[in-house]
Amino acid sequence: MTEPLEISDEVRAYLAPKDLEGLARARHHTSLNCFVCEGPIRPGSSDRPTVSLFSDPIERVLVAKVAHADCAPSQVEVMDLPREVIAGLAPGSISYIPAVMHLPDPIAAIFWEQNLSVTVRGADGTPFYPYLEHYRALGFLRGEEAPGLAGWKFEFEGDDLLLYREEGRMEEFNGAVEKAPAKWFDAMERTGGCLAMVGVGLGVDRLDLGLLERAWAEDRVAAAMINASPPPDHRAST
Ligand SMILES: [Zn+2]
Repeated sequence: MTEPLEISDEVRAYLAPKDLEGLARARHHTSLNCFVCEGPIRPGSSDRPTVSLFSDPIERVLVAKVAHADCAPSQVEVMDLPREVIAGLAPGSISYIPAVMHLPDPIAAIFWEQNLSVTVRGADGTPFYPYLEHYRALGFLRGEEAPGLAGWKFEFEGDDLLLYREEGRMEEFNGAVEKAPAKWFDAMERTGGCLAMVGVGLGVDRLDLGLLERAWAEDRVAAAMINASPPPDHRAST
């Protein structure tokens, strides 16, 4: 299948595969505007718009904008993020935090987000998050709905927690065993699962509950309940 968007190598260097798949979904399902002539780029139209990247140094996000191929080539237009944000941040690298949520019974949960999120704006101004869309396309729903997903599982490997679906590995949470709070493994063992919560602008690196609540309210979180059991040396029953 031909990609529905023209994306240059220069732009591609900043994007993870999940971003690219999410962008393709945005092209298929969302009305977009050309950032040059402001003309519409409708889902399903036969042209192949270009993707350019801008940056927002305040929010520390990359903003992807589309244009008609005749209006602008696919290129990095503005990249003024702080050097430390760009340096060492491989596309797709994530920050995460394991937590126990009381709903009201204790549930093991893990929150994560990309270190550098990509956003797109629809023609009506609605923000669209390719990385989140990727998970939504695979069955993740709003936080309070969190469906159980067949074929997915969390597995521990040494100190790391890995998220798998049938088709392969989705994420790698390095050092999760060490970062896990008290009672996290107990809650996981009791329910046989872990609540997977992926988002944009969660501030997991800052542990800011206000940011998390805002992300939840603004529908920037996607969740699913995934099968999980603690590693043998963290099981109460052994
Ligand atoms: Zn245009």
